[in-house]
Parts: sequence; structure tokens; C-alpha cells
Amino acid sequence: MNEYDSNRIYDTVKNIGYLKTKNHLDADCYLLNSCHIRDKSKEKVFDEIGRVRKNYKNKKKPIVIIAGCVAQAEGNEMIKREPYIDFIIGPQSYHKINKIIQNYNFKKKDELTEFDTEDKFNYLDKIKNNDSNVSSFLTIQEGCDKFCNFCVVPYTRGPEFSRPFKNIIKEAENLVKNGAKELTLLGQNVNAYFYKDGTKSYRLSDLI
Ligand code: SF4
Repeated sequence: MNEYDSNRIYDTVKNIGYLKTKNHLDADCYLLNSCHIRDKSKEKVFDEIGRVRKNYKNKKKPIVIIAGCVAQAEGNEMIKREPYIDFIIGPQSYHKINKIIQNYNFKKKDELTEFDTEDKFNYLDKIKNNDSNVSSFLTIQEGCDKFCNFCVVPYTRGPEFSRPFKNIIKEAENLVKNGAKELTLLGQNVNAYFYKDGTKSYRLSDLI
């Protein structure tokens, strides 16, 4: 899902002129999309930011954004521990990333960790998915309401949310146009997919 999210973040920031660089030592903005499923993930984020700080020691500081589930779960603590981080953005707030970048002023640290899942997908559904892999990812739902003892997902991705059926089909058709031959439907709990449109309701089997 982070791979899908990273691609969608890229589809978004391209609209304000931020393009991928081939030279990682020459970036204006450095975004690290993190996963919290293993205990070591948080420390890996700090290691990576340490490397970036060293690489940019004699250069203009890039805007440093930590995204993903580590950001959601540990954001506050991360900004305190590593002042080189400028922004924390949780997985359900990616639709606000362009504003964050455009309003950046080197002074104010910020954290966006609300569970705005519906707004996020409303926003992303208006932006074309440019993925052109033969095997592509497609998020159909996010979050989980099960709260298993060992799992962080309900706290990082929030409650279950299923995307509108028609929007998923539209994105799937677009990915097929881009060359996809195989689509992997993504979700924290894909079996929970349920979308009601008037009197009609859709489940995972309908999507498949
Ligand atoms: S059902 Fe899966 S995602 Fe949901 S809390 Fe349990 S392990 Fe985590």
C-alpha cells in the first residue's frame, strides 16, 4: 500500500512542479514514506534523516517530510527528537501535501494526522493515476475496525473506509489503458469492502 500511496503522492506533487530527481543529493523536498509494521521502522527513519542531514550539510536544506504510518503513530516525538524534520503527514492526510509544500517557510514545524480518508479519496479521485506497470496496485479500502491485540493498523490507518465502487472501476480502467495486465486490490482488510450506492450495495466479489 505504501508503494501505491507513494505513487499517488507523486501524482499530486507533480501538479505543483515537484518532479522526481535522479540525483538524491540535489532535492528541494525530501519525502520519506514509512511503514510501522515492524518495530525497527522508526529507528530506520531516524537513520535515514541523519544521512540526509549529513549529505546536505553544505547545501540548501530540502523540505523534509515524513509520511506514512510511523509518522501517524510517532509524529510528535519525531519532530522533537529530530529538528531536521519539517513536517509529519499521516496516511489519511496526503491530499493536503501540496499546501504543506507551498506554504513552507523554514520556521514552523507541523503535523497533519487527522483521519480524513473520505476527503483524501475525493481529492485523489480527481487526479489521474499515472502508474504504468504491467502489474499495478489499486487501493479499494483502508483502515480496520477489528482492533486485534497485536496490530497497529486501526491506530495508524484509522477506521474502515471503502472507496466508491464506480471510482475504483474508473481507476482500474485507466490503469488498463496505461498498460496494466494485472491489478492487485489493496486494503488493510479487503474482505471488509462494502459500498452502498442508493439501493445497490457492492462487496469485494463484485469488484473482482
Ligand atoms: S484484522 Fe488485520 S489489520 Fe485489522 S486489527 Fe486485526 S491484524 Fe490488524
